[in-house]
Amino acid sequence: MIPVNEPLLGEREKQYVIDCLDTTWISSAGHYLDEFEKRFSQYCGVAYGVSCSSGTAALHLAVAGLGLGPGDEVIMPAMTIVSCPLAVYYTGATPVLVDSEPDTGNIDVTQIEAKITENTKAIMPVHLYGHPVDMQPIMDLANKYNLKVIEDGAEAHGALYNGRVVGGIGDAGCFSFYANKIVTTGEGGMVVTNDAVMADKMARLRNLAHSPKRRFSHDMIGFNYRLTNVQAAIGLAQVERIEESIAKKRWLAGLYSSLLSDIECLVLPIEKSYAHNVYWMYNLLLKPGSPFIKDELMPQLKKLGVDTRSYFVPLHKQPVFEEIGLFTGENYPVAEDLGRRGFYVPSGLNMDEAKVQEVSRCLHQLLQP
Ligand SMILES: *Cc1c(COP(=O)(O)O)cnc(C)c1O
Repeated sequence: MIPVNEPLLGEREKQYVIDCLDTTWISSAGHYLDEFEKRFSQYCGVAYGVSCSSGTAALHLAVAGLGLGPGDEVIMPAMTIVSCPLAVYYTGATPVLVDSEPDTGNIDVTQIEAKITENTKAIMPVHLYGHPVDMQPIMDLANKYNLKVIEDGAEAHGALYNGRVVGGIGDAGCFSFYANKIVTTGEGGMVVTNDAVMADKMARLRNLAHSPKRRFSHDMIGFNYRLTNVQAAIGLAQVERIEESIAKKRWLAGLYSSLLSDIECLVLPIEKSYAHNVYWMYNLLLKPGSPFIKDELMPQLKKLGVDTRSYFVPLHKQPVFEEIGLFTGENYPVAEDLGRRGFYVPSGLNMDEAKVQEVSRCLHQLLQP
C-alpha cells in the first residue's frame, strides 16, 4: 500500500531528541523550544512565534489572543477543517461562512464583503493544499472595515503570495505540525505574529495564564497548550530542512502533472500568477462524466494499493453544527461540489519516481481504460 503520507525524519531529528533525553530537558521549557520558535517565525518573516500543542490550539490562541468572544463574528471558508470554526466557537464567537473559488478551492475573496456586518471582527483565510489565498483583497477589506486577519497556514508552510511567506501577511498566522504537515513535530502548532502584545498574551494563555506578577495567580481563562522541548527538537531539525522539503513537494507535483495530464476526467492542481504553491498534497477533482464518482474511485484505488483522502465535508454540512442550528439553510454550492469531487493522492516526502508512476498507472487503469 502506498500511504497518503509518511513523515520524513532524518539523523538530525534523532540527534536533537537524544540531546533532550541526555540533558533531561523533555518538558515545556528548553533551548529547542526557543530555537524552533525563533527559526520558524523568522522563516515566515515575522517577529514572534508562540509554539503550542496543535494547529487547532494555535487557531484558538489567535482568536482568544485577539480578545474575541460572544457577539463577535469571524469570516472563514465553508471548505476547511473543523478546527477553524471550533477555535472561534470555543471563545463564544460565531463563525460565518463564505463559498470557495472553483479553481484553487480557497475562500472566494469576491464574496467576503457581503458577509461583513457590524459584528465582524476578523477574517480567517485558509491556504488549502499548499496554494496561497489571494491575500491582497482580504487585507484591503481588513483595512476598510478595521478587521483582523488570522491566516491558517497549516497546509502551506513556506508557500508564497506575491513573494511573501504565508502566515506572515495577516495579523497572525497559525500553523499545525501534525505528522502529515510539511514541517512536523508529531503533534504541535505555532502562531506567528508581529504584534508583541498579542504574542505575550498568547504565550500566557498557552500556559494557564499565570500572572506575570505572581505565579499561581491567574487573571485570564488560560489553557494548557504547551509544546515540549522534545517535539520542538524534531521541529527545529525539520525547519532546517524546509527548503528541501518544499522542493521535493514541487518536484512531486510536477511529475504527477506530467503523468496525469492525458486523463480527461481529472482536473489537476494549478498555480496562480501570485502564487508559489508548495503542493502540500497533490489534489485532484473528478470531472462530471468520469467512469467513477469519487466515493467509488477511492475504494477502487485502495484495492490497487493506493491510499487517498477526500476533501473536507463543508462546514455547513457537518452534523455537529446542524445539531446546534449553526449555518441552517445556508448553501455554498462550490464548496459542496468540491467536497463531492475532490481527493488527494500519496504525496509524502519519501515518495520516489516509481511510486508516483504506480499511482499514475492505477489512475489510468480506472479512469482511462
Ligand atoms: C491540519 C490542519 C489544522 C489542524 O491542525 P491540528 O494540528 O491537527 O490541530 C488546521 N487547519 C488546517 C487547514 C489543517 O489542514
